[in-house]
Amino acid sequence: MIAAHPDDENTAILAYYARGRHMRTGYLSLTRGEGGQNLIGSEQGDLLGLIRSHELLAARQIDGAEQFFTRAIDFGFSKTPEETFAKWGRERILSDVVWIIRRYRPDIVILRFSGTPRDGHGQHQVSAILGKEAFSAAADPSRFPEQLKYVEPWKARRLFFNAFSFTKETEKEAAATPGRIEVDTGAFNPVLGVSYSQIAGMSRSMHRSQGMGASQRPGPSHQYLIPIAGEIPPKDAQDAFAGIDTTWNRVAGGAPVAHLLEEAVRTFQPDHPERSIPLLLKAEPLIASIHDPWAIQKLVELHEAIALCSGLWLDANSEKYDAVPGTTVDVAYTALNRSSFPLSLNTLTLEGMGRHDSIDGKHAALTSNLPLNDHLKFTVPADQPYSQPFWLREPRQGDTYAIADQQLIGLPDDPPALSLRFSLQAEGVAFDLVRPVRHRYIDRVHGEETRALTVVPPVALNLPQDVILFPNGEPRRVELEVRADVPKAAGEVHLALDAGWIADPTTRSFDQSQEGQQQPLSFEVRPSPGPDPPGVLRSTASIGGRQVGVGMLVISHPPLPPLTVFPPAVAKLVRADVRVTARRIGYVMGAGDEMPDAIRQLGCEVVLLTASDLEQRNLSEFDAIVTGVRAYNTRADLRADLPRLLDYVRNGGTLIDQYNVTDDNLVPMGPYPFKVGRGRVTVEEAPVTFTNLSNPLISKPNEITSKDFDGWIQERGLYFASEWDSHYQTVIESHDPGEKPLAGGMLYTRYGKGVYVFTGYSWFRELPAGVPGAYRIFANLLSAK
Ligand SMILES: [Zn+2]
Repeated sequence: MIAAHPDDENTAILAYYARGRHMRTGYLSLTRGEGGQNLIGSEQGDLLGLIRSHELLAARQIDGAEQFFTRAIDFGFSKTPEETFAKWGRERILSDVVWIIRRYRPDIVILRFSGTPRDGHGQHQVSAILGKEAFSAAADPSRFPEQLKYVEPWKARRLFFNAFSFTKETEKEAAATPGRIEVDTGAFNPVLGVSYSQIAGMSRSMHRSQGMGASQRPGPSHQYLIPIAGEIPPKDAQDAFAGIDTTWNRVAGGAPVAHLLEEAVRTFQPDHPERSIPLLLKAEPLIASIHDPWAIQKLVELHEAIALCSGLWLDANSEKYDAVPGTTVDVAYTALNRSSFPLSLNTLTLEGMGRHDSIDGKHAALTSNLPLNDHLKFTVPADQPYSQPFWLREPRQGDTYAIADQQLIGLPDDPPALSLRFSLQAEGVAFDLVRPVRHRYIDRVHGEETRALTVVPPVALNLPQDVILFPNGEPRRVELEVRADVPKAAGEVHLALDAGWIADPTTRSFDQSQEGQQQPLSFEVRPSPGPDPPGVLRSTASIGGRQVGVGMLVISHPPLPPLTVFPPAVAKLVRADVRVTARRIGYVMGAGDEMPDAIRQLGCEVVLLTASDLEQRNLSEFDAIVTGVRAYNTRADLRADLPRLLDYVRNGGTLIDQYNVTDDNLVPMGPYPFKVGRGRVTVEEAPVTFTNLSNPLISKPNEITSKDFDGWIQERGLYFASEWDSHYQTVIESHDPGEKPLAGGMLYTRYGKGVYVFTGYSWFRELPAGVPGAYRIFANLLSAK
């Protein structure tokens, strides 16, 4: 199945084929969903893409499918495929789709979109345009011949279109299309105890960062697959695979394997699964002798089936989750045969980190339910790179990731840093099982958890912000945290700044006696005197002859595993001529954003307002109160205390509401009625027209010009107001090419002695990105009187 984003997939169809039909099933999402809004935290961009990659993996654990991605980055809403192709490079992403098809070798490919403007989002259209193109290009050896070093051309048999059925009409239309295949995802699976649509509801609810919690809906559900290329299914076919041999007969030498495995299935005894092992062992050498990628896949599955039938528990547990290059890691391993079937362990091999170390001489019989435990030591190579997700290792190329190793393209996540290969023997047949080295630990609340072995630097340099703003030409104190991941970390941190910018001092030393300790180091940074473009600050730690130029960030959103990234210890230095008269700001955090830190960079004090603050605190101490993105969608306390906020405005306060989406929770905002619509301006360079030059939002204390709309990222704004009361003044207008001007992105009104502002412009993106003009405009909003 091919589409553009996390959440485009039809999880019911994935569950039907994977869990119901036992087909190998995969979802290729062109992007990792970096451009969306985050409902569970403040992470955006790369970090949001990382979270969504793992949300998809969690969803696939439930529906049973596999996950793939191309190098394309979701750069935000796009209204056309042309814009999307211009940002991604058509051939580059086509080559990825072809590569994934050639490696995965599907019999049928299902598109979620039509490749026409009917799909809406340009990235949706592109997923279908490239899906169709790749369907034939994958079979053509003259296309992307450089891939043929690793894979063979692959001709999938059928291409289908599975339309979204938003309405009963579209469902009827699909049902009436000649040649369509109906998939009954409402069918109940008595072994699983649920229907595929129910599984889909559970799987879809893993998309937490986009608030896709879904009901499980038992009962009928019909999906339609419409053939669009390749072989047409036989007349009156009820199945997308009709006429496609999905048995062992499709590979030379497969027939005797089929015979043995059918017998194994027929004679399987659920309370004595080990009695099936002899048949599996007979099939093993037959499968091993078939030279076909499919047989290689099946051989691994057969080995895992033997492990399942014997209740075999194999584990490789590192004493800590983090490992520093040059240090030694202790790995405890266990082999436990929980059946009466005779198995023995021959050798162990550590794999990964450029190593292939055999630990020989075990040759131990695995006695029923008696664990074989031991330890081994492993030294992490001194030049081992840190465990940065592979798509984030190199600077991105425009709106695609740079990935040097072709073999990594398409993978959802990094292969384990280190694995332990257990070479076993049963009745004279040797076979291997590979387990990742993981750290197993007990969480007092959640119980036993595991975490991937992660290679980390000896010290991490964490900068306070990615962007450091100098709002008035004055020097600023920059405080850097040095966090040690080794005992006794001592060394120096050095700052290197672009010409014109000055740090004092440029070097400071650190000395930490304990692992996990953090030490702040303070520097004064003086901005470049001229009106230069932004500068860059690079920090490097020298420790034991090693140079470290990265920080370390652990993202925790249970039930996802903790996700570790190593952001470069680099900050953008932005000089902006900003005046702000507001001093003390109250902030009502909504779904999560980085605005409070951004506002602090203007020199304001920011207090995060709690539920009890909204209910009881004297709000008049604040010069302005700002509500975070989606605050009215997510906070019942804010909705309940709206009258207090309006009183605050009436008595002379300034209230700024940022964007919220129209949903059941959205109450009327502001002192006079207005409606939030779906209007958005997706082109970040879209011209902005000043329609109300005397309005304080664009005149005081900073005089705003069109230059302040230069250098914006991703978009202008979203969820603009669509209708408003005549008490509101509009201030600026903007619109995407070829569309009507949208004036509802900023509404201003005086109310009593105060000011109310609604704004759909994307301050939550532009301020953290260090766009100087965005700071100047937002300073006016805060200062509005
Ligand atoms: Zn989408």
